Amino acid sequence: MSELALLGGVPVRREPFPVYATIGDEEKQAVAEVMESGVLSKFLGRWHEDFYGGPRVQALEKAWAEYFHVAHAVSMNSATSGLYAAVGAVGVGPGDEVIVSPYTMSASAACVLGFNAVPVFADIDPDTFCITAESIERVMTKRTKAIVVVDLFGQPADFDAIMKLAEKHNLKVIEDAAQAPGARLGNRYAGTLGHIGVFSLNYHKVIHCGEGGVAVTDDAALAERLQLIRNHGEVIVKDKGVANLVNMLGFNLRMGEIECAIAFEQLKKLDGLLEPRVRNANFLRDALADLPGLTPPVVPEHVLPAWYVFGIRLDADVLGVSRSVFAKALRAEGVPVAEGYVEPIYMQPMYQKKTLYGEVGCPFRCPFYGGNVSYESGICPVAERMHYRELIYGDYCHAKMSNRDVEDIAEAIRKVHRHRSELIA
Ligand SMILES: *Cc1c(COP(=O)(O)O)cnc(C)c1O
Repeated sequence: MSELALLGGVPVRREPFPVYATIGDEEKQAVAEVMESGVLSKFLGRWHEDFYGGPRVQALEKAWAEYFHVAHAVSMNSATSGLYAAVGAVGVGPGDEVIVSPYTMSASAACVLGFNAVPVFADIDPDTFCITAESIERVMTKRTKAIVVVDLFGQPADFDAIMKLAEKHNLKVIEDAAQAPGARLGNRYAGTLGHIGVFSLNYHKVIHCGEGGVAVTDDAALAERLQLIRNHGEVIVKDKGVANLVNMLGFNLRMGEIECAIAFEQLKKLDGLLEPRVRNANFLRDALADLPGLTPPVVPEHVLPAWYVFGIRLDADVLGVSRSVFAKALRAEGVPVAEGYVEPIYMQPMYQKKTLYGEVGCPFRCPFYGGNVSYESGICPVAERMHYRELIYGDYCHAKMSNRDVEDIAEAIRKVHRHRSELIA
């Protein structure tokens, strides 16, 4: 009989892995204080000192700006809202193209559509899963106005090269750092590497307050535009004396006092939550470094990822076993594993049918848009290969994982790898 659990052997792991939970007494106490105060929000959609929100909103923004060494932090009710406001703030509009990643959460590309511009997909790098200066340059046109760069799985993209390219062509860069709070490129934080960075505080992320987000920038004019889009800008501009009316349609993207109070406590925990992530990830990278057909994350020397998830590339030709069979055997050993992350975004019906606003197909088939963007399958071969064939990943590094837990994960992967020939029926 085989040792593999899938074929009747004893699994490496019998108990479930710990759940990632970070809300504790500090958050409870902070919420109780907000409740005691009776002030659950203090935002006013009018030009007034309360345009900037209440004490907890402002305390979070101040702490966030200090932590990330950035001049301005603007809280939002989600990263989706933050991305949307960022696209508006940099002045993207009808007729513009914005280069985005196909391999990310849907909103990293959809934010562009909110301002009637057209997302253009650049392929990802197989080592980092992020778009690169090279892949961006390949799809640039005279209509390109901005780039949304995602630090996927918590690993900062190659911003040195991307910003150089952006400067040369006068493009604005929005960094989607939703998965990367605390990640670093050299001594700079992810989220502060482009013109505007956006973090998520949603409950799936490294730190959270249920739902929330923060946009950051060193540019005072961009910060003001983020604040205006967050909070009913159209009715503020006159009294505030704002001259630039481009995209000054405001919404209500504001975060409440309770969420900000929770986020404030969570930010204090960030360093302590990242340290074990880095330790666990480094252990796994070493433990899996010598397995032909499996490639653990590739991290350049000067990069410190936040290890949102741990991605592994699997080459079925080298292994002699398909991804789905390998993953099934791993699950039988008691280790959860996902196959692929999200279907490349351009495969969504909206892109495939090029239809969104009204009956006329704007912005994709708008008279004002002179380009002819392609969303055909095959436009980003690396993203497709990663998704449909090569990537497996798990939430293996989080702070609640003990040494024993990551040792079990490594042993299960090594065991399935060692016995893989038995999986070939
Ligand atoms: C989670 C996530 C978002 C959206 O965050 P919300 O706060 O849920 O709106 C955007 N981009 C990426 C890469 C994400 O992982």
